[in-house]
Amino acid sequence: MNPITYFRPADASEALAHADVGARFIAGGTNLVDLMKEFVMRPAALIDINGLPLDAIAPGANGGLLLGATARNADTAYHPLVRTGYPLLTAALLAGASPQIRNMASNGGNLLQRTRCHYFYDVATQCNKRQPGSGCSAIGGLTRQHAILGASEHCIAVHPSDMCVALAALGAIVHVRSASGERQIDFADFHRLPGDQPERDTTLAAGELITHIELPPAAQFAAHSAYLKIRDRASYAFALVSVAAMLDIGDDGVVRDARLALGGVAHKPWRVPAAEALLVGHPATAEHFARAADALLAGAQGQGENDFKITLAHRAVVRALEQAAAGTHDNTGSNT
Ligand SMILES: Cc1cc2nc3c(=O)[nH]c(=O)nc-3n(C[C@H](O)[C@H](O)[C@H](O)COP(=O)(O)OP(=O)(O)OC[C@H]3O[C@@H](n4cnc5c(N)ncnc54)[C@H](O)[C@@H]3O)c2cc1C
Ligand code: SF4
Repeated sequence: MNPITYFRPADASEALAHADVGARFIAGGTNLVDLMKEFVMRPAALIDINGLPLDAIAPGANGGLLLGATARNADTAYHPLVRTGYPLLTAALLAGASPQIRNMASNGGNLLQRTRCHYFYDVATQCNKRQPGSGCSAIGGLTRQHAILGASEHCIAVHPSDMCVALAALGAIVHVRSASGERQIDFADFHRLPGDQPERDTTLAAGELITHIELPPAAQFAAHSAYLKIRDRASYAFALVSVAAMLDIGDDGVVRDARLALGGVAHKPWRVPAAEALLVGHPATAEHFARAADALLAGAQGQGENDFKITLAHRAVVRALEQAAAGTHDNTGSNT
């Protein structure tokens, strides 16, 4: 077995100096260490980024909020500026994993956690994501957790994050830095569909470090947002389907603006702006919510075992929008 070199740099420049091919950043380690133990990922070097000054949560220049990449998911969820300004994000974070894992998991690591497809974790099986060109054991195999949207003949895996579904609805921006400079990536462009390169989860280049996640201002949605996660048990379970819903409703009951994103259904959080537009200018009623759900799920295709997800997702979208319309629910008291 090859040895792993370990670095603990004090700043981003030093971290990036070590970020050559074969090296991996490590933050909370809650996903990467599991993957290393299962021999799915074997980095030659680990660059521990926990000593970098990237754990702040602070107002951004454009009136939004900047979440540091190494800030923990729990600290982010309970931060007063997140709870009051972005209750959707608080709800999504607290729906993920368990209290212990949220205490370790970082914001940057959450974006880059890998699929939970069981074949990906089982090195005795064929998996195009783990070993390009080897085949996809899930197609024709066990597919209860798999995609109903955006899949390809090479991979039908889904992205497992809850946080990312909220970030998609919020239209977040990912700030990254590499040895050659800095750039910003719109959240809609950050995660990829599998296509013929399922080994690439995101558009991040090798050696790029996530430094911050920027949340645009969203005060207009704070009173009417909901995150609904449907899963097999109440804690420690990934979403079968999840929905992030935000509404801006006028005094006359008419929807002025809307955001919707689905999790657990595709290789990336699933957002269709045309579905959101169907809600605008109409009363916040189940009839209009169902029309938006139809548009959001257009083209959905099951794999047999997971066909139920199409109906489940439709109902979940309507339910989440009803919950958002009724008013944001504070779930910070729940600790599952
Ligand atoms: C039992 C269990 C249940 C879980 N349930 C859920 C759930 O229900 N919902 C959910 O959303 N998540 C769930 N998770 C996943 C958990 O949220 C992720 O493992 C966690 O967010 C990853 O963050 P981390 O800091 O530990 O990442 P790490 O494991 O440290 O890193 C993950 C990846 O990100 C890269 N990375 C980390 N930080 C950066 C950075 N700043 N820049 C560039 N690359 C970086 C690493 O190189 C690695 O490839 C669960 C995990 C476990 C173990
Ligand atoms: S669905 Fe994707 S991750 Fe799962 S076995 Fe197929 S290629 Fe691998």
